[in-house]
Amino acid sequence: MEGTDLTAEWIVGLIDMQSFYASVEVATRAEYLRRRFLEADDSDPALAVTGDPKRRSGIILAATPAAKACGVSTAMRLGEALHACPSLVYVPPRMQLYIDTSVRIHETVRQTFPKYEPFSVDECFFAFPSPSDLFPDPVQAAADLRTRIWNQFRIRSRVGLAPNKWAAKMANKAAKKVSGGVLWWRSQENVLDAIHPLPVTDMWGLKRRAATLQAELGCSTIGDVARLPLGRLRARFGVWGEVIHRWANGLDYSELNTDTMSLPHQGYSHRTTLPRDYTRRDEVTVVILELLDEVCTRARQAQQKGRRIGLGLTYASLTGGFYKAKTLPFASNHSEALYSTLLELLDRHWDLSGVRAVSVSLDQLGFEDGVQLNLLEDILRRQALWATVDEVRRNYGETSLMRLSSLLPAGQLRERAHKIGGHTA
Ligand SMILES: [Mg+2]
Repeated sequence: MEGTDLTAEWIVGLIDMQSFYASVEVATRAEYLRRRFLEADDSDPALAVTGDPKRRSGIILAATPAAKACGVSTAMRLGEALHACPSLVYVPPRMQLYIDTSVRIHETVRQTFPKYEPFSVDECFFAFPSPSDLFPDPVQAAADLRTRIWNQFRIRSRVGLAPNKWAAKMANKAAKKVSGGVLWWRSQENVLDAIHPLPVTDMWGLKRRAATLQAELGCSTIGDVARLPLGRLRARFGVWGEVIHRWANGLDYSELNTDTMSLPHQGYSHRTTLPRDYTRRDEVTVVILELLDEVCTRARQAQQKGRRIGLGLTYASLTGGFYKAKTLPFASNHSEALYSTLLELLDRHWDLSGVRAVSVSLDQLGFEDGVQLNLLEDILRRQALWATVDEVRRNYGETSLMRLSSLLPAGQLRERAHKIGGHTA
């Protein structure tokens, strides 16, 4: 693309905003912004965004570095945070503002580099060829982007540059420790030298598999993982074994704008058994919506969308029931686009017997389209919103953001989140 040298390598970057929600708060409040001229100047207040500032049990969603230095951390309760840092300024979240700011920052990145892919509300990947006339000095190109974001939004960021996406994610984390906020691992050897001494728990994207690598396969560093024979990883983790092997060797063949670090999935489905027989439609629909939200969350995490949506009901005594699915003219991973079809299936097939278990599934999957250059802003806005919701849930538990309907007595989400060890709300 761009008529660049076809022999050029692509450099992949990951940019991440510092303490995003808290930074937006500081940057949009006149009393602090006045002091926020120089990026290096750390006169920022100890400020935290907290779920419910009226209650000391509200959870800290984000905190400025000054607040963190004072002992405040995310997911802490407000009471605890104030105990650690009595001068803490705390404010309620302004999600719409964060999303609007996110959309504009993403737009800045997208306009700066030939390839771009949103990753979360405050992170995105980008890529550019090297060597190239437009970006003769990769570190400078990344530094210029940081400066542009600072100048326009007064938000600090850091950038990892590497030969591939996974390594860029790792470099981004390592960039915390370098001055200037940009770290470039220019060669495969640089990547390996940097990652192999790190503890296996620092390996991005493994989740619980890191614990298995430590406990069952005796790996303490990423280098230990790289030295394991592929066969052992495959025997223990199946297809994931290949991914782990590749990452530990600093490799990642995923392209920007297509599915990335997660493996393709045949379909998503969630099922829940109810505490009693549900006989009212409004009770059953609450559960259906909760399950649909979970299915969509998982599909979005894998950047997949499904064309076929299915509903299963099991009746009292766990004997009768049905499973029906409908194929749609479009693919989606958003509840609001899929919910009405589930209601249709419910109304067409439910014989009003007492319901004891409900399942929702999404399959006939495809990958989300890359975000195109002519992307309508509201698509991005919606993605950013859901990315925020997903992120809050990932960090603070399934129940941290719930639909209001889940608070009704019929809702099962809070109960189930307990069962899988989620945070109590
Ligand atoms: Mg961040």
